[in-house]
Amino acid sequence: MKYNLLNKADRLGRKSPDCWLFLFQKIIDLERGDYALKGKIHSVETVGLVDGPGVRTVLFFQGCGLRCKYCHNPDTWDLQAGKEMDVAEIIKKLKRYQPYYGKTGGVTCSGGEPLLQVEFLIELFKECKRNNISTCLDTAGYGKGDYKELLEYTDLVIFDVKHYIPEKYRELTGGNFSVPTEFLEAVKKSGTPVWIRHVVVPNITDSEEHIRGLENYIATIPNVKKVELLPYHTLGVSKYENMGISYPLKDVPNMDKEKTKILQNMITNNIL
Ligand code: SF4
Repeated sequence: MKYNLLNKADRLGRKSPDCWLFLFQKIIDLERGDYALKGKIHSVETVGLVDGPGVRTVLFFQGCGLRCKYCHNPDTWDLQAGKEMDVAEIIKKLKRYQPYYGKTGGVTCSGGEPLLQVEFLIELFKECKRNNISTCLDTAGYGKGDYKELLEYTDLVIFDVKHYIPEKYRELTGGNFSVPTEFLEAVKKSGTPVWIRHVVVPNITDSEEHIRGLENYIATIPNVKKVELLPYHTLGVSKYENMGISYPLKDVPNMDKEKTKILQNMITNNIL
């Protein structure tokens, strides 16, 4: 970084007002620690249309503590893998696409599980807000950290509800239900708008009774603005083969899209 700073200072003219302004800004950045924190990023989708409102750049964070049976991104699980990126590098990328975001678009941090890197996420979202970039967090709520501070800089939470019954949650994800519950409580307190997502899996989460239970669970979250049911699909299976791990839902077919629509109408009519 030292080399880059001197180069830039030379380009601006070492005694020019622009140079002093530039160096002053860098000192503030260093004070804030922006350059110390690095995030582990799996990949970046520069123009995404399905992860939040409008046109968005989607950052897929590396690392996840869950092992959802239907996960189609097992390549995001290992926190040691992925590419290191710092806040400045990401902001630079986002600013390139900012003209496409319009009034509704922005950045979405997805995964993997972005909440495994909460400190980095806070710094990133703070910097996004400074640059007028709208922030969306797409999460299963499986992390730990200062959620209160994070949510101050989060415009929208997309909360992926895996299951609402603790034992079934463990069965489906391998995780402890108290972890997303803690996150959800912080979201309720913050009042941040929430979109709920839920994957409908044949014979696991596709019964009317299950959807009624989901409705009751969602009804306890006052800041919900939208509920989306997503039909389970088998597109990620080849990744398991490539990684040499067995796929837990081998015999489960794709979820019927028409049936998902019926369940979606049911839940939308009753909740929103
Ligand atoms: S939370 Fe997402 S990335 Fe993690 S195991 Fe579940 S589906 Fe996969």
